[in-house]
Amino acid sequence: MWTNWSGGLQSRPRATDRPLDEAGVVAAVRRAAGRGQRIRPVGARWSWSPVAVSDDVALDTSALTGIVASDAQRVRVRAGEKLHDLLAELARHDLSLDVVPRGDGVTVGGAVSTGTHGSGARIGSLSSLVRAVRLVDGRGELHRIDGPDLDAVRVGLGALGVLTEVDLDVVPERTLSAGEELRPLVALLDDGFLEVHDWTELEVFPDGTALARWADPVEAEPVEERGVAGRAVAVGSAAAVGSAHALSRVVPRLAPALRRSASRWSGSTVGPAHRVLVAERPVRAEVSEWALPREALGRALRELDAATAARGLVPRMPVLVRVGAAETGWLHPAFGRDTAWVAVRVRNGTDPEPLFSLVSSVLGDVGGRPHWATRHDWTAPDVDAAYARASDFRRVRDRLDPDRRFANPHLDAVLGP
Ligand SMILES: Cc1cc2nc3c(=O)[nH]c(=O)nc-3n(C[C@H](O)[C@H](O)[C@H](O)COP(=O)(O)OP(=O)(O)OC[C@H]3O[C@@H](n4cnc5c(N)ncnc54)[C@H](O)[C@@H]3O)c2cc1C
Repeated sequence: MWTNWSGGLQSRPRATDRPLDEAGVVAAVRRAAGRGQRIRPVGARWSWSPVAVSDDVALDTSALTGIVASDAQRVRVRAGEKLHDLLAELARHDLSLDVVPRGDGVTVGGAVSTGTHGSGARIGSLSSLVRAVRLVDGRGELHRIDGPDLDAVRVGLGALGVLTEVDLDVVPERTLSAGEELRPLVALLDDGFLEVHDWTELEVFPDGTALARWADPVEAEPVEERGVAGRAVAVGSAAAVGSAHALSRVVPRLAPALRRSASRWSGSTVGPAHRVLVAERPVRAEVSEWALPREALGRALRELDAATAARGLVPRMPVLVRVGAAETGWLHPAFGRDTAWVAVRVRNGTDPEPLFSLVSSVLGDVGGRPHWATRHDWTAPDVDAAYARASDFRRVRDRLDPDRRFANPHLDAVLGP
């Protein structure tokens, strides 16, 4: 039996296959096909939605690791590689990815398949960095995809095949200077805070304030950082040293648990993107995140605030707001529009459903689309109404997986049979 990262999902697959290479993936899919079984690619199991759950055969991609080739523009990486390993290896060559999400324990295959994003008004998601993939389809045939079908594969939800290798754009390693400050939410939105810096995010509190974080490239070398007590500490541990002190200074009335979850730095920090932008100690929680048209953000937050207050469901964890550029992936929640992401989190041990179903109704009404890896209640008709290219995605699925070898009950609901 396996559980996902949050502990909210359990799965007891009938069998688990852990191929050591691409030929092993082909053999595993053909074996499942020969037995009439369903087989589901599984990454690090960090998703909150049951998108990776398998009731039949689980295809564990954890042995498909390592960089196959790289140059100054591109890296070809095996799909089971964890993002933190990839970023560390790229850093050794003064390279990085333009997009660094909060969670770096995910696999490249899993992150790409669900449209994993970071936060920056002009930055896309990891899916937007994909230039080509190698994929094993539902009959065990191997494809290299670098043409129009790529916009289906960018957010394939594990429904089109098993990614074995992914070509991603890389960028020169940057040193970022990051800061955080507590301000009224209204002032931050009026000032266009989310558009000004290369990287931004907000933790919005029920009292109308928000902890605003930003990061921009600087020339300085990422050597060391000052801790709150004035000691020099490695950048990687600066967040841990400074976080509780910093937030208790700026938000003295917040509960300790909230304090721990919210602040990252002792006011400011300097370092490479893969250190500065990753959440050091994410709180175990269930998450429902929605991608809104960017211009709807202010209204959406006001309506969410009013609806949760009226129903006595005010979130106990701050609401996380991030931004991203429009995407080309046909099922990417940011497809075709600059996006504001709104994530509502419920700490483990509390039933998240009453709040999440309210969030779905309020944010769905302002044009929101759910992040596929987070908790949501969407089914195929919602997908058809929200995604202009949904039928193109289904056509590619019919071609690559006509027997629905890669389906599971969750995908049956979201994509239809
Ligand atoms: C602490 C934490 C922080 C996070 N931070 C962010 C964030 O900042 N931004 C964001 O957008 N999301 C974030 N997420 C969500 C996370 O990025 C997604 O859940 C991602 O899909 C997890 O990758 P995984 O390797 O665990 O994939 P899994 O959860 O195992 O699988 C996800 C999907 O990918 C498919 N899949 C996996 N491997 C392959 C493959 N090789 N070929 C084809 N399909 C495959 C699976 O079938 C499934 O459909 C976070 C999650 C956690 C727990």
